[in-house]
Amino acid sequence: MGLDIGATKTLGVRLDDDGRVLEQVREPTEPGPEGILRTAAQVVTDLGSAASIGLGIPGLVDPERGAVKHAVNLGVDGEWVPLRAELEQRLGVSVAVENDVNVATLGAVALSGIRDLVYLSIGTGLAAGLVLDGTLRRGATGAAGEIGHVPIDPSGALCQCGQRGCLETVASGRALAEAWPSGDEPPAQALFAAAAAGDVKAIAVRDRFAAGVADAVRTLCLSVDPTTIVLGGGVAHLGAPLVEAVADALRAQAAASPFLTSLDLAARIRAVPADQPVAAIGAALLGRP
Ligand SMILES: [Zn+2]
Repeated sequence: MGLDIGATKTLGVRLDDDGRVLEQVREPTEPGPEGILRTAAQVVTDLGSAASIGLGIPGLVDPERGAVKHAVNLGVDGEWVPLRAELEQRLGVSVAVENDVNVATLGAVALSGIRDLVYLSIGTGLAAGLVLDGTLRRGATGAAGEIGHVPIDPSGALCQCGQRGCLETVASGRALAEAWPSGDEPPAQALFAAAAAGDVKAIAVRDRFAAGVADAVRTLCLSVDPTTIVLGGGVAHLGAPLVEAVADALRAQAAASPFLTSLDLAARIRAVPADQPVAAIGAALLGRP
């Protein structure tokens, strides 16, 4: 069983032995440590009994202890919340806890069968998960893949992390929403539709956003050279138009460089399957003994 705990909703899946989704439920996420525990327990109850549970959650996760902190959107501050210990006590089943981008990366590996893959999550923020030669790379302090906080523009906007001109200030759902306010409509869809219809301003905003995502892809490829980069997160619901825009930006960036051209980065990107709960699937697989 796998749970993807998000700021507004928690998605749960039950998988068969081959990793296919048998059942899927969602519940609104209650904020705060006790709210998260209640929500998780409710989703598990909805899905019935499980041999093991894996759980993906935003924030800083200590997978050894199964604890999380700094999940700001979930009402979890700088105090460690011992999710695994609390849930194991309540549910009587073994529980594994991992960062949400990392479980989505494991899910993307399982769905694609590719064991050397970077998952670039373009959600509210921008972060990557790395599976290299089949192994999840967390880093010495869990900061591997924090690509959103690579500064690219010394005169750019101030980032929430305190630096200036981070990739996240250009290539994230938040940056896109600020650059293209769209009322009730999702900003990414509104922007790409306006650009496709020939709106000159929208084309400029879209291309700047795509160039930022391409910067992230290029940096990741030059760091760890994965066979595949999967674009995920809320903005990736755009699907093919996003992949095309980023591929165009990658080709433009490579135009003056035979070296970059030889790496053919544009051919390595794809969008995560829109109809698959990739993070919950990855969480379920993580939880398996
Ligand atoms: Zn930053």
